[in-house]
Amino acid sequence: ANPAKPCISFGHFGFDEDLMDAIARCGYTEPSGIQRQAIPVALEGRDIIGIAKTGSGKTAAFVLPMLIHIMDQAELVKGDGPIGLVLAPTRELAHQIYIESKKFAKAYGLKVAAVYGGASKMDQFKELRSGTVEILVATPGRLIDMIKMKATNLRRVSYLVLDEADRMFDLGFEPQVRSICDNVRPDRQTLLFSATFQKRVEKLAREVMDEPVRISVGHAGQANEDITQVITVLENESFKWNWLMKQLAGFCAAGSVIIFVSRKAAVDELATNLQQAGFPSGALHGDLMQSEREKVLKDYKQSKFPILVATDVAARGLDIKSVRTVVNFDIARDIDSHVHRIGRTGRAGEKGTAHTLIVSKEDKFASDLVQHLESSGTPVPRELMQVAM
Ligand code: ADP
Ligand code: MG
Repeated sequence: ANPAKPCISFGHFGFDEDLMDAIARCGYTEPSGIQRQAIPVALEGRDIIGIAKTGSGKTAAFVLPMLIHIMDQAELVKGDGPIGLVLAPTRELAHQIYIESKKFAKAYGLKVAAVYGGASKMDQFKELRSGTVEILVATPGRLIDMIKMKATNLRRVSYLVLDEADRMFDLGFEPQVRSICDNVRPDRQTLLFSATFQKRVEKLAREVMDEPVRISVGHAGQANEDITQVITVLENESFKWNWLMKQLAGFCAAGSVIIFVSRKAAVDELATNLQQAGFPSGALHGDLMQSEREKVLKDYKQSKFPILVATDVAARGLDIKSVRTVVNFDIARDIDSHVHRIGRTGRAGEKGTAHTLIVSKEDKFASDLVQHLESSGTPVPRELMQVAM
């Protein structure tokens, strides 16, 4: 059978008043493209591979049908483990999905919990044991720890979401993701979401999904057209700092700024140099303690300082409304990462600008970037063409 037709208004999904109120309270007036297409298909119980640009509302596209699924199942399956399980690649993203899910889960009094590395295992253990959790958001490694500790079990899981699946693979979580999938009932519903879709995820999708419906809004890897991309070619690495000093005050006047660099040590160094130059900055990378990671991100979200210097740990999924400028101080490792990094701005219809600094020796990335800009309709600067030759 053909999957369900898209719906153009939240009213068309058949949600009850409680959920409609929760949606309205979030300020959502109409569904985004991916929500229009994915929600009716998910409500039919089909597996989905959902590809849509960054900032287009993929979270609600899997959370809203999950709630309906749980309300239908909760009566049927007794037990105490979660019914909805969401896997995410980073702690920060898991936390964000947890917060977003809670807003909607309130409508039905469903309990949401999150488990991820860095935070206290004992606290997470207690929370999972303290009562029925219907929705669990987790990073793969910590979820497996929790299962080993018998804090929870996957017996009741029948709605499984893999958010940013390709990133979970990049981070080496493939065995964990597979083992989790193997331990969830085979008659479950499985949904996979990302803005990019790598070939190797295709193989996993074939193995863990059942005749998935593919929904892509735009093409995989497409940049969000609300983001203006500016490419600057520099002769030499050492010119980056001067470039930044010339531009930064202007960027900060427009809103918050994220600066991506490739190494953890370089994050600390750049953040310190910016502080000394009079630009209040925070640093985010994987070597910090979890409590520091959380504090930096919280303060940054509350605009306590305008600039966040980060590694790719901040590249995926994070939704921070005030971000107007992304700077790729160092280039991303590949174009998919580039697309996710710049996608930290231009969210939910807002405009943003992404600056990419490229040093003339980086010709492989330069030629990929040329292709990417052309396919998203962005004029390619002549200097970039020359580097890419
Ligand atoms: P993605 O996962 O596609 O990158 P998110 O799910 O993080 O995007 O959503 C991006 C932002 O858009 C979030 O702040 C979210 O609250 C908001 N959003 C999602 N759906 C809608 C909607 N239908 N109307 C308005 N804002 C929305
Ligand atoms: Mg997302």
